[in-house]
Amino acid sequence: MHEAESSACASVRLNCWFGVRCKIHVRLGMELPLAETIFDVAIIGGGPAGYTAAIRGAEYGLKVALIEKTEKLGGTCLHVGCIPTKALLFNAEIWDHLKHAAEYGIAGIGTPTLDWAAVLKRKNAIITKHVKGLEFLMKKNKVTVISGYGRLTGSASDGVHSVEVTGADGAVSQVKAKNVILATGSDAKMLPGLEADSTILTNIEILSIEQPPKSLVVIGAGAVGMEFSSIFRSFGTEVTILEFLPRVVPVEDEEISKELTRLFKKRGIDVNTGARVEKVEKTESGVKVTYTDVNGKPQVKEAEKVLVAVGRAGRTENIGMDKTKVELERGLIKVDGAQETAEPGVFAVGDIVVGLPQLAHVGAMAGMVAVAKIAGRTFRPIRRDRIPGCTYTEPQIGSVGLTETQAKEVGHEVKVGKFPFAGNSKATIVGNHDGFVKIVADAKYGEILGVHIIGPQATELIAEAVAVLELEGTVEEMMFTIHAHPTLAESLLDAFGAVEGMAINA
Ligand code: NAD
Repeated sequence: MHEAESSACASVRLNCWFGVRCKIHVRLGMELPLAETIFDVAIIGGGPAGYTAAIRGAEYGLKVALIEKTEKLGGTCLHVGCIPTKALLFNAEIWDHLKHAAEYGIAGIGTPTLDWAAVLKRKNAIITKHVKGLEFLMKKNKVTVISGYGRLTGSASDGVHSVEVTGADGAVSQVKAKNVILATGSDAKMLPGLEADSTILTNIEILSIEQPPKSLVVIGAGAVGMEFSSIFRSFGTEVTILEFLPRVVPVEDEEISKELTRLFKKRGIDVNTGARVEKVEKTESGVKVTYTDVNGKPQVKEAEKVLVAVGRAGRTENIGMDKTKVELERGLIKVDGAQETAEPGVFAVGDIVVGLPQLAHVGAMAGMVAVAKIAGRTFRPIRRDRIPGCTYTEPQIGSVGLTETQAKEVGHEVKVGKFPFAGNSKATIVGNHDGFVKIVADAKYGEILGVHIIGPQATELIAEAVAVLELEGTVEEMMFTIHAHPTLAESLLDAFGAVEGMAINA
């Protein structure tokens, strides 16, 4: 190790013994001779993709710098994405259960009232706790966290890249590293001519509204739109969904979209597919959304708020890629199986990568793949058909692998097994019989190609299916795999049996 590098290292460790001082020194990167340190890897972006790469890199023994432009690590997922939304969904679930308290033998509650401020306080406390957790993990793993905006400056010189970091005070420094991982994340897309504010909301503003709105129009029926629709419907909001495509959650199996639509409608949510939004105007009381419905008829919907949930744009601009060989496709970065871009030593992970879904768990795994390659360790490239998709609505969706249509499109002769939660005893116990498990298998060899679950705890149940697909399991193997009784997971056993027309409980 270079002498300057070792002294920088010692300086980090020494300061770390003094807790708070360490944090300030490391975060601001002021007292470390950063310019003289050559990191094995500098990561730009401290969301799940970036911080996971940082920790795993350190576990491999790499010398890691993590550059983050905001004050706190965690990215969209922790601050305005996965974690706060799931916190609110849990509140919604409790609230829904309370509505049926008497049915569960809980008397004397009266009419529950919603303390929205307390709901938001709990959500914020969860975020704070996890930010602290991340700070702890960075210290524990001796990752140098640098506060500032990172930009590539060009190709490596003598095998060393230089990342320009601009601090909040405008001061510019250079971070040198043998490899760079871009993990800059994404922003919610806006409809043309609109700007987010307290009435026109994205995933950010909606997470801190003062009260659940009386009425909400949701534009876009992907995960963001469906999850917020589910949350606010539970809290009594009148929700109207406007989706451009012919079905909601369009990435899911068609039967899942159909079932979610049916169950959302049963919950009183107004679901409109094939809807083309023409205009969103602010009014004195909120918003007026003009759209063309599936029959081509003009329609107007007024509401207190509108949520725009039409996808996310990767932050690939202004990070210095123009000075490198990094290649873009539709604004996102092209990578190989090791997440490496066309610029040697520059990797990309998370929401900025083309061809992978913009999911925290995909970004995190991509980060682990990239650092494994950098450390010269074995790794497995991410396979798109092994990525679980989880939508935390009521009912939940968990899916992995090919949909029935996709399996047919790629030339499989398929066999399908379906089992409704109505036949599952644990579903009766937890009071939720909605939904089903659907298995898509190859007819010839029995290999399981896809598992699609809608219903109670679907986002947890899908883990078994991910493992089965990863291990290339067959229907026969799974039909003879013991599932504990009584569990919701037994629905999978029955669904595997259903592929051969041999479910036990249906
Ligand atoms: P998305 O791309 O998943 O869905 C957007 C939806 O909006 C699509 O169905 C699209 O057809 C529709 N749409 C686009 N323009 C429209 C218009 N003008 N009018 C009506 N409909 C329109 O995007 P998202 O839901 O915003 O989510 C962004 C990303 O974040 C996605 O990759 C998503 O998977 C991810 N995410 C995942 C989770 C989860 O895993 N639970 C939760 C939230 C977000």
